[in-house]
Amino acid sequence: MYLDNAASTPMDLRVIEVITNHFKNTYGNASSLHSMGQVALQVMEESRQHVADLINANKEDIYFTSSGTESDNIAITGVANKCREKGNHIITTSIEHHAIKNTCLELGKQGFDITFLSVDKYGLISLDELEKSITDKTILISVMFANNEIGTVQPIKKIGEIAKKYDVIFHTDAVQGFGKIPIGVKSMNIDLLSASSHKLYGPKGVGLLYIRNNGERVGWSKIIQPIMYGGSHERKIRPSTENVPGIAGFAKAVEIAKEEMHDEAKRLTILRDRIIKSVLENIEGSYLNGHPTKRLPNNVNLGFNCVEGETILVSLNMEDIGASTGSACTSASLSPSHVLLAIGRTPEEANSSLRVTLGRFTTVEEIDYFLKILPEVIEQIRSMPPLDNWFCCGNRIRI
Ligand code: PLP
Repeated sequence: MYLDNAASTPMDLRVIEVITNHFKNTYGNASSLHSMGQVALQVMEESRQHVADLINANKEDIYFTSSGTESDNIAITGVANKCREKGNHIITTSIEHHAIKNTCLELGKQGFDITFLSVDKYGLISLDELEKSITDKTILISVMFANNEIGTVQPIKKIGEIAKKYDVIFHTDAVQGFGKIPIGVKSMNIDLLSASSHKLYGPKGVGLLYIRNNGERVGWSKIIQPIMYGGSHERKIRPSTENVPGIAGFAKAVEIAKEEMHDEAKRLTILRDRIIKSVLENIEGSYLNGHPTKRLPNNVNLGFNCVEGETILVSLNMEDIGASTGSACTSASLSPSHVLLAIGRTPEEANSSLRVTLGRFTTVEEIDYFLKILPEVIEQIRSMPPLDNWFCCGNRIRI
C-alpha cells in the first residue's frame, strides 16, 4: 500500500501510454528544422498550452525544466543575480523545501540578506510580519504554496497582494499544490511559480517554471538571469535539448488533473479527515501536525508521544504499508525536521512524526486496513522494552 504520494506518485497509465508513443515516434530534436524536429516542437508547444491553462497563465510564460528543484534554483538565484543592483534582500519562510532553503542559505554566503519568516503552530506565516520585513532592498518574496511535510496551504492571494503593493517579485514553490488545488497565477499576483511532474502522476525529470511576462508586472524588463548557459532552448532560461516525451507526459498528467482535480480533492479530503479523526480518537498520545482544514487534501501528518517515527515506518513497512516521516529528501537524515521545529514541536516530538500522503490510487479499503494496523503498531512499539523502543519516554535512551 503506497501512502507516500508527496514524495512521488506512480505514473498514471494514461500518461505512460502518451510517453511511450512519443518515445517511439517523437524522437526529433525540437530545435531541428526538418519535419521530425518540427513535430517535436509542436508536441512541446501544445504541452506548454495545457500546463499554462491549469494555472491560467499565458503559454509564453511557461518554461520547462528538469525538476521542481531546478525551477526553484532558477527562480531564486536567477532573480538574485539579475536584480542585485536593485537590492540584496530576499524574504522566504522557515518551512520551505530544501530546494529553496539551501539556495537561500547559499545566497546568504554570497552577501544576500535573507529573512526566514516564522510560522505559527499550524505552519502559517503572518502577513503582518511579512509586510514589516519588506525594505527598499527587498527584491524577492518566496513563499511555498503548500508545505510538503505538514500540508499547510499559505494565504497565497494575500501574499501576492502585499508583493504587488510594494513592487516586489513574488515566487511560490507550488510543487505540492500544483494540480491538486486551484491556482490562478494572475488572480493571485504570482510572478514566478515552480512545479514538478512526478508529484502529479507524470514522469520524473520534468518540471516547469512560470515567469510572468519575464518581469512585466514589477516594471523590470527582465527578472531572471539564467543559471546555466548553452543554446537558446526555453528562450535561454533553461538551455539543453528538451525532453519532449517527458514534457508531453507532464502535459497529459496536467490534462487529467484539470478534469479530475475537483472530485479527487473532495474524495481525498474525506479520506484524510477520516484518518485524522480515527487516529486522534483511538490512539492515545497522538496529535495532528499542521492546520486542521487549511491543508492539502491528501496530507496527514501525525505525532505520537513516546514513539519514534522511524520505528513506526519500519513496522508499517513490515505490514506492506509505505509511508514517511517527512520530506523524502531528508529521510536519510537523523536531524529533526526543520518544519516541525518551526511550528513549535520539540526535537523529540519532531522525531515522532508520521506523514501519510494519499493519492489517486488510494482506496477506501486500503485506509480501512491502515486504520486497523496503525493502532496495533503504535501499541506494540510502546510496549517494547526501552532498548528496542529507543525513544521510550522517561528513559531517553539514544543509541
Ligand atoms: N518543493 C517541494 C515543496 C517539494 O515537495 C519538492 C519535492 O519533494 C521539491 C520542491 C523538489 O521537487 P523535485 O523532486 O521535482 O526536484
